[in-house]
Amino acid sequence: MKYNVAQLLKEAIGSRRNFEIEEDICDADHPVEHVQGSVEMVRTHQGIWLRAQLTVRVPQDCSRCLDAFSRTHGIELDEEFFPEIDVNTGAKVLLPDDWEALYIGSDHNLDLTEATRQATLAALPLKPLCRPECVGICDRCGLNRNHGSCDCYNLQIDPRWAALRSLMDDQQP
Ligand SMILES: [Zn+2]
Ligand SMILES: [Zn+2]
Repeated sequence: MKYNVAQLLKEAIGSRRNFEIEEDICDADHPVEHVQGSVEMVRTHQGIWLRAQLTVRVPQDCSRCLDAFSRTHGIELDEEFFPEIDVNTGAKVLLPDDWEALYIGSDHNLDLTEATRQATLAALPLKPLCRPECVGICDRCGLNRNHGSCDCYNLQIDPRWAALRSLMDDQQP
């Protein structure tokens, strides 16, 4: 998710780029597997302001039945990125070490990977469900009850049925 912004950095403040993105993220450590949406970049006094409306597809495990599923979420990015290197002079731009900012590396690539990761993690539910009516797994045999049923709780009734039946049998003439 890298975009070369060398040309935009050389342009006047207020210059902008608008474009659409759509790509797969093949990184097991990134929460997103697919991203799509529109991006706007604006040259600012110090760097580039980025705004993006993205739809991200996120693979997750259901918190009730543990099945894997993917769902799309809408996220917005609204961040300023600062160049580490002055694009005109090649000089290192001095920024305070403790400044928690997003940087444009010395290759002049603006990388959306980390900003997308943070916005996605903030958008995800704490307890994801494969579907709202998910009935989860049987706590006795571990069967996923969305895919079938087990007899664990029916068997429990059997002894009582047996007692009833023996009573009824006793009353038979
Ligand atoms: Zn589920
Ligand atoms: Zn069961």
